[in-house]
Amino acid sequence: MQILKNKTAIITGAGSGIGRAISLLYAAEGARLVITDIDEKGGNETAAEISKKGGEAVFVLADMAKADDSKKVVDQAIKKFGALHIAVNNAGIAGPLKPIGEYPIDGWDKVISINLSGVFYGMRYQIPAMLASGGGSIVNIASILGKVATKNAGAYVAAKHGVVGLTETAALDYAEQKIRVNAVGPGYIVTPMLTKNLDEATLKAIAGLHPMGRLGVSEEVAELCLWLNSDKASFVTGAYYNVDGGYLAQ
Ligand code: NAP
Repeated sequence: MQILKNKTAIITGAGSGIGRAISLLYAAEGARLVITDIDEKGGNETAAEISKKGGEAVFVLADMAKADDSKKVVDQAIKKFGALHIAVNNAGIAGPLKPIGEYPIDGWDKVISINLSGVFYGMRYQIPAMLASGGGSIVNIASILGKVATKNAGAYVAAKHGVVGLTETAALDYAEQKIRVNAVGPGYIVTPMLTKNLDEATLKAIAGLHPMGRLGVSEEVAELCLWLNSDKASFVTGAYYNVDGGYLAQ
């Protein structure tokens, strides 16, 4: 049985990596999708792959750092499918790597606007639509760096810690109104975010930071999100779940 049958979902950052894997899995589980990305080519590729496999997805070009674009995405979901039940706020960037005393101000602003404000803008419009649809479930993609820090990534670490706090607050705000809100914290995952910025030796060293001795893959993150977004997780809200090969257990 498809566990997301008759559900409508918004997935942000769906043109690549983790967002694409989540979109493919949710479509296979019967969800009708509105997928968004700032990368038009990647977004269209994800939508085409879904329809080739018999799923239903529309792509909306949108910048999650802009509140108006989040509203546009939700409006499209309601116009096309008549309801909104699920959202995954996944769009994100890595940002510059510099110690705080040298951190570029524009880099800080950009990371915070996409990785933190983008999650707020998403929920700001998704939640009213979910209330009107009888309830829903939101997953915000944080990171292991939403719980611990790493050198030189001040904006990313601050934004992801913020996502965890924002998730907990939203969960409390709507616990009595049938909207569950949870955060997922991946360890280092093989996606373009990682591979386009780092060489082989660095990737090997990062893999060694995980007790399992390897990097994760996007499909492993998608499986956790699927469970959290499904009715199987009906008593789970305000939680942070890591999917990190043991990284945070150290
Ligand atoms: P990815 O492969 O780079 O995919 C992210 C997608 O989001 C890209 O298509 C990107 O487009 C898009 N995007 C960037 N800025 C956007 C914006 N303003 N509005 C809409 N879309 C935007 O990265 P990923 O690894 O799948 O990351 C997905 C999420 O997982 C992020 O929130 C990331 O922080 C989180 N995460 C990743 C890892 C990891 O190791 N990969 C670990 C923990 C958490 P462009 O390619 O054009 O920028």
